Amino acid sequence: MTMTDAEAEPKAPSRLSASKVLGVIAGLAVVSTLALWWLGSLPEEPDFTVGRVVFGNIPELVVAMFYVIVAVFLGVSIGMFAQRARNWERGTWESRSGDYKRRLHRFLEGMSMRTVMEDRAAGMMHAMIYYGFIVLFIGTVILEIDHLLPVQFKFLHGVFYEGYSAVLDAAAVVYLTGIAWAVVRRYIVKPWRIRTKTRPEDAWILFVLAAIGITGLATEAARIALVGQPSFEKWSFLGYPLSFLIPQASASGVHLVFWISHVVAFVAFLVILPVTKLRHMVTTPADLALSARDRPKGAMREVPNLMEATDIESIGAATVAEFTWKQLFDTDACTICGRCTSVCPANITGKPLDPREIILKLGTVASMTATPPQSPPVGVDAAITVTSDNVFQLITPEELWSCTTCRACDQICPADIEIVDKILDMRRYLSLMEADF
Ligand code: SF4
Ligand code: SF4
Repeated sequence: MTMTDAEAEPKAPSRLSASKVLGVIAGLAVVSTLALWWLGSLPEEPDFTVGRVVFGNIPELVVAMFYVIVAVFLGVSIGMFAQRARNWERGTWESRSGDYKRRLHRFLEGMSMRTVMEDRAAGMMHAMIYYGFIVLFIGTVILEIDHLLPVQFKFLHGVFYEGYSAVLDAAAVVYLTGIAWAVVRRYIVKPWRIRTKTRPEDAWILFVLAAIGITGLATEAARIALVGQPSFEKWSFLGYPLSFLIPQASASGVHLVFWISHVVAFVAFLVILPVTKLRHMVTTPADLALSARDRPKGAMREVPNLMEATDIESIGAATVAEFTWKQLFDTDACTICGRCTSVCPANITGKPLDPREIILKLGTVASMTATPPQSPPVGVDAAITVTSDNVFQLITPEELWSCTTCRACDQICPADIEIVDKILDMRRYLSLMEADF
């Protein structure tokens, strides 16, 4: 009888997989965005006394290119998440269904930044960027909805428009302040756990996020300059004063350039979202929702009956396929914050163990041996090469045996990543398959 540890796990109940669902969503996103283009061309665009003309000053050809480009890159972005999901599915099956009330509660805690807020300064900075971004995004969605509605149902004018302008400018202040704070923290204050994992992609992420905010604000100012600074636009308390920096004669060209730059920045965001650690905007709340499970935290997976299984291939985890899909998903949900390392007694006392590195090394092996290869959880040194799907080419037994299993790392992790679980599965492999303990 041949049996692997994976066979001790229940099998996947159906053929519906995350990668297939995401693939369908990617297709729907493309079709829906193109449909918005067509729907938006149906209603007339009235010129309210207090309000704005959507796509005012934007040539029809540029509007068409906007919808097509956003549709394509939205599909590409979600499609790249589907590719990553295929990589998670290399792992063995484990059930994370049921207990939905608790999962929803944990998901909402993730969305509300509660777990990140346990580190006040970092939490506040993240919350300013995240909430600022969400409010600005909702503002864009409201603008699009109003654009699609028949004239008699349009609501984005008058007092509502004035309040809308003020809220969005306030969100821009919060968002850009959060980004400035992040730049200072990462490149000037440089706390150890951030400094040791700062990579070029961090600069790109901050650059793209800042570009979205700055070009959005500049577009707003140029639009107000273009329409002659009517007094109701004072509710846009940032855009209005900035509009006086733009000469009336060149406002049309300046507005078009900033508008296109804003779209380019958003498309860049769609591209870097799945391929850089920025993906944790999506994966961390999902990981929190998936954290509740049948076996208690710290309890090991069951092993096959060693008395009956006489020809065992492998027990524990050494190759990517011997981890569960959730353990692989964890590596994409890691925010690289290093909180786990900062509380690890083994690391603090100089033992050769860094729990963050355990997660990143597993993620690196999994992503580099994917078909097609995926970007690792965070940029790795060029000197590091991965030649097979065995994690022990990057993780040493000394690291794993340095763990005290105190679970301080699991407890502090803002993404609910189960670090000890993976360490124990790898130690089980070393003990039972390699007699290395
Ligand atoms: S469980 Fe192990 S890795 Fe986690 S904090 Fe304790 S010693 Fe460190
Ligand atoms: S495992 Fe958790 S605590 Fe450790 S770096 Fe990743 S997100 Fe942070």
